[in-house]
Amino acid sequence: MGTNLIELENTYTSGVYGKRPVAIVRGQGATLWDAEGRSYIDCMAGHGVANIGHGRSEIAAALAAQAQRLITCPEVVYNDVRARLLERLAQITPAGLEHFFLCNSGTEAVEGAFKFARLATGRTGIVATLRGFHGRSMGALSATWEKHYREPFAPLVPDVSHIRYNDLSAAEAAITDNTAAVIIELVQAEGGVHVAQEAYVQGLAALCRERGALLIIDEIQTGFGRTGTLFACEQYGVEPDILCLAKSLAGGVPMGAVCLGQRVMESGRVTRGAHGSTFGGNPLACAAALATLDVLERENLATRAVELGEHARERLRSIQSPLIREVRGRGLLIGIELSKRVQPYLEALCERGVLALPAGPNVLRLLPPLVISQEQLDQAIDIISEILTGSTSSVPLPEVVPVQNREVDLLQRMLTIPSLSRQEGALARYLVEQARQMGLHAYIDEVGNFVASTHAELDGQQPVVLLGHMDTVPGNIPVRIENGLLFGRGAVDAKGPLAAFICAAARVASGGAPARPIVVVGAVEEEAATSRGARGVVNRYQPSACIIGEPSSSQAVTIGYKGRLLIDGCVSHQSSHSAGPLQSSNEVATAFWERVRRHADEWNQEHAGASTFAALLPSLRRINSEHDGLEERTSFTIGYRLPPNFDIAALREQLQRWAYTDDIHLIFSGEEVAFQTNRAIPLARAFMAAIRATGGQPTFKNKTGTSDMNVVGPVWGQNIVAYGPGDSRLDHTPNEHIRVDEYTHAIDVLEHVLHETASQREIAL
Ligand code: PLP
Repeated sequence: MGTNLIELENTYTSGVYGKRPVAIVRGQGATLWDAEGRSYIDCMAGHGVANIGHGRSEIAAALAAQAQRLITCPEVVYNDVRARLLERLAQITPAGLEHFFLCNSGTEAVEGAFKFARLATGRTGIVATLRGFHGRSMGALSATWEKHYREPFAPLVPDVSHIRYNDLSAAEAAITDNTAAVIIELVQAEGGVHVAQEAYVQGLAALCRERGALLIIDEIQTGFGRTGTLFACEQYGVEPDILCLAKSLAGGVPMGAVCLGQRVMESGRVTRGAHGSTFGGNPLACAAALATLDVLERENLATRAVELGEHARERLRSIQSPLIREVRGRGLLIGIELSKRVQPYLEALCERGVLALPAGPNVLRLLPPLVISQEQLDQAIDIISEILTGSTSSVPLPEVVPVQNREVDLLQRMLTIPSLSRQEGALARYLVEQARQMGLHAYIDEVGNFVASTHAELDGQQPVVLLGHMDTVPGNIPVRIENGLLFGRGAVDAKGPLAAFICAAARVASGGAPARPIVVVGAVEEEAATSRGARGVVNRYQPSACIIGEPSSSQAVTIGYKGRLLIDGCVSHQSSHSAGPLQSSNEVATAFWERVRRHADEWNQEHAGASTFAALLPSLRRINSEHDGLEERTSFTIGYRLPPNFDIAALREQLQRWAYTDDIHLIFSGEEVAFQTNRAIPLARAFMAAIRATGGQPTFKNKTGTSDMNVVGPVWGQNIVAYGPGDSRLDHTPNEHIRVDEYTHAIDVLEHVLHETASQREIAL
């Protein structure tokens, strides 16, 4: 499949790119997959575009919503999302930059910058730097230094000169009274990863000001957190007259921006008709940019770039290889200067599953997404080290650690690897490596689930399946052990249970393969309404028994989960005066919610009595309203917790009827029926015996939430329970932690249960 794609592209492409022989078809976080399903650690980030990582649901959702509202809208009319983005850019860019020309690429941003500089100053000269890169259209190319790029296209734009970088006296000599602007990068990226000195940049800014020239800073590659601050110029204490942005601005959607300072605007020459772009400022890209900026801020990715960048440079500097001349860079823009041409090393890295970039002929450039996990970055550095030292393994041999510590260590490390829904790739890779070291057969399946088994093949046998999940909800909780409590996002829900599964399966496997295969699955997307991981395995196995990995405490098993129905509603009206007779969209939406609540109260009085598990429980999860002077819109999400044997279709019909009369548009999503098994199943009995045998007092639980049991239970049958260490009241809280002794107790319990259930070839259901 990959080869076909490559042939097809080679047949029809322009031929201007030197390509690597891989066809990338999917990405998640800092992992890319080729058409054959092989994964790669991404140290290219789409040439610095994917700072927030691949496969971001936030960007997909923003694009989908905007695409349904409005995709195109030229700048000759106003637009809501564009207005919000312009305001946001003014808030986040350095002081003095308050006006923006939106375009579609870095090159266009540079072209725009030159036009505005010439307009504002009435001068023609542009001073650029040796080794600088600013793009490849005729104007931008004139400022790019590399002669292979420039010479075939001469004559280029006149009055462009190149001076030595980091050399103020060269600038003094070059800036004349015909210089419109000086353009620099703060880290020359394509030109070899050279970092500008602070005194140079400050001196240059002063010189430009003194001589009436403008300072253009090209942050197309260094922007959006890459070097440790949102923009690199924040680290230099300079305010450019023009700032060029692109690449990561819209999370992967093409977009550029020319940010204009006071000296440009006060010239009074940036007037109607001076510049333009059909696609510039289109609402689709603006929506993606707003969502991208939210992610960058919320996940504090600039700080992450500083920490990981320092760590990476330190490790790279410690590699003993005569090939390495220097390691340099800022944040996660890293250059390794070699004494040889870099191309063969890039090819070797690609073969070993790392995609990296060149920066000039002999510099290896690492430009990973800022969301890369430390483990993934370390793995990439290990492979670089192996390739540059010619050794087969630079990874120190693991210390011999006592089993119990190793089990705690596994969970602790799992907690340090972020794994939000749809970003589980790094954790999955880590788990595969660990499970293999623990004697299990492990791999990542086609939907991204981690799978580990006591047997290489199932050979038609009905396995015991332990189905946990890898993803967590957002929220960074520093990982630490304090007074026997292990803190970290996912400690309870559900990395604790998943780690306990792996350890228990490994303990059983260490005594020889059991009669019946044990398969541990770390599913993806349990926390998302999609449950993609569980849906991906539900038809793959016909288990004899299944344990779902969710916290129940080490002394209890869960035998039931409620069902769920999620409803998104939207009501929009033409704006009316608040004193007028018409109901506002907010009033219509809240009246609908009141109706939902009253209906549930009545239903519960009739059917549920005092039992919460048997009750119909609606909650208003979200309500938003917008008003643009012409139309008011209220949107809301209602989530129902549904009892067992509940008629969901009848509820949906009822809601639709109410919605119809109120002119509300409803979309149903995330529907799951409740699932309950019983205390007499063999698995529940095995747990009772195991908990007693390990000194505990067993109990049963029913849960008001949902889990992957709702997905697989209806297909896999009754011999199923949920089990795992941890107090589920701590799920999704900022205080999420697990007792270390409870975690190890759960492994003991699971080991007993697995010995019991996997030692028999046939189980009486
Ligand atoms: N300026 C810098 C510093 C760049 O790194 C690049 C691209 O690598 C450009 C300009 C050109 O941007 P684009 O390829 O989006 O046109």
